[in-house]
Amino acid sequence: MKDDGIIVFDTTLRDGEQAPGASMDIDQKIRVARALQRLRVDVIEAGFPAASPGDFEAVRAVAREVDGPTVCALARAEKRDIDQVEMALRDARKRRCHVFLATSPLHREHKLRLSREEIALRAEQAVRYAREFFDDVEYSAEDAARTEPDFLAEVVERAVAAGATTINIPDTVGYALPAQFGALIGHLRKTVRGIDRVVLSVHCHNDLGLAVANTLSAIEAGARQVECTVNGIGERAGNCSLEEVVMAVRTRADHFGLGTSVRTEELVATSRIVSEATGFLVQRNKAVVGENAFAHEAGIHQHGMLQHAQTYEIMRPEDVGFPSTRLVLGKHSGRHVLRKRLEDLGHEIDAQKLDRAFDEFKRLADRRKEVHDVDLEAIMRRIAPVEARP
Ligand code: MN
Repeated sequence: MKDDGIIVFDTTLRDGEQAPGASMDIDQKIRVARALQRLRVDVIEAGFPAASPGDFEAVRAVAREVDGPTVCALARAEKRDIDQVEMALRDARKRRCHVFLATSPLHREHKLRLSREEIALRAEQAVRYAREFFDDVEYSAEDAARTEPDFLAEVVERAVAAGATTINIPDTVGYALPAQFGALIGHLRKTVRGIDRVVLSVHCHNDLGLAVANTLSAIEAGARQVECTVNGIGERAGNCSLEEVVMAVRTRADHFGLGTSVRTEELVATSRIVSEATGFLVQRNKAVVGENAFAHEAGIHQHGMLQHAQTYEIMRPEDVGFPSTRLVLGKHSGRHVLRKRLEDLGHEIDAQKLDRAFDEFKRLADRRKEVHDVDLEAIMRRIAPVEARP
């Protein structure tokens, strides 16, 4: 792993698929896995083999298909689950076993009914067992964000000693705040023996709309793997959105000084494939991949955009896979953009014609959300009638 790189761990096929209503069949999962490979994510979490026979088969199919990214599968901290992962990933070219066990008081007492010592021991034993079959083992302390920091550090230290190669700190319930979550990562880096030998990872949920912000804060504090999903799908309000975190790191490379291996020009296509496979529509104003992410209607903005794109855009649409900026003609648009569009449509415009066209355009735009090229052609036919032709 390069020092200036962030590992992009995509969990669209595992956590994303756990979103109520997002389940995919094997063909759809293969299509998504191929898209993730084209996108060049580093790790694809393909599923949770012990969850169901269907999940097992899907993980096995993805493991056979993928060539490039590491294929990962999830296991509870139990031999039986780890054995299932081992079988499901047998044909993978590069493979990772991802073991999780909750550490927070709420999960210890109400879900697992285990003491602190029992948790630490079980995590350690599961990692050691997984290492018998895998060189690449990730341990996740489920609900880490609500775990006592010193106990979390103790469990992490024992998982590292047992041979974990990646340590993941999930904010399973989307409870963390950026500064506090960054401080937790900093605390682990400072206090855990052996932490420099492993990759520190984060997995943030979006219950308060902070998944990307918390992930970026963790990167600032030294996390070097981000777990994310395409379009931010996942349990409840979803996960850290892949396209947002990747473009934040890239657009603000001046701040982070880090990069990813993701081919960002594939982001829009990947978003569409996942949307189609899951049936989850992408909201129009979604950052990076939404239909309006590079659309401008306000007159002052359109005028600026015609002069210089960077006046109102921090990313180029081509860099994420959109053909170009969309200047939407509507009631907020000004004369400059109307003239430009009419010229693009092949009309010769003098000041007088522009006045009349603009007048008609504004009247139409008051009644419609958007004015399309056909409407402009109709306006031009009215104001520059056929008599002009020989
Ligand atoms: Mn999750």
